[in-house]
Amino acid sequence: MEEATLNCHNCGLQIYDSYAYCPFCGTKTESLKNNSKGTYIIKPENLLVTGISILIAGLLLLATTILLHAYILNGLGLAIAFVGATLLVKGRKSISVKSVSQNHCKYCYQESMENWKYCCRCGSKIKR
Ligand SMILES: [Zn+2]
Ligand SMILES: [Zn+2]
Repeated sequence: MEEATLNCHNCGLQIYDSYAYCPFCGTKTESLKNNSKGTYIIKPENLLVTGISILIAGLLLLATTILLHAYILNGLGLAIAFVGATLLVKGRKSISVKSVSQNHCKYCYQESMENWKYCCRCGSKIKR
């Protein structure tokens, strides 16, 4: 799934909707964010949490059906646990892919791309 993008109103470059600051010119993007359509995006971090929750829910359902001898519902619990595990793997993958060749902001530890001049979270200048 791709993140929603918008164009910085100062430099016009395309940035992600989730950024608090434009990484190229350092302009705060909050005003842009409020005007955007507000497309719901699941970030890799959220994907992990969602995956874990669904996995636990599925395993709980599985355990309950075993306890209640409701074997017909076992498949359902397994299916839900499988969906959770898939999300978990996806979330982990996108996080590990994202962290390749990136630097960290020394103020907020946000990961930043090599061509960024400003941190997208706290807006501080990235010095190299
Ligand atoms: Zn900009
Ligand atoms: Zn920062």
